[in-house]
Amino acid sequence: MSNSQQIHCPHCQSVIYFEAKLLITGMSFNCSNPDCLTSISLSQQSLEPAKELIENYETKKQNILQLSH
Ligand SMILES: [Zn+2]
Repeated sequence: MSNSQQIHCPHCQSVIYFEAKLLITGMSFNCSNPDCLTSISLSQQSLEPAKELIENYETKKQNILQLSH
């Protein structure tokens, strides 16, 4: 099972695959269209809130998995 998620490129509407866990480390991801040079990354001021959001999600996900035993 892959952790990758996808959004549509704001420029050409092609798919951009990204991993939230890597996105919050500041990594950028390129558009899957080789003719499009668009890349996505989190702005510096979004890094911290996004990190918290994803960490909360991971915690909740673990709780859900424990409940489903
Ligand atoms: Zn694009």
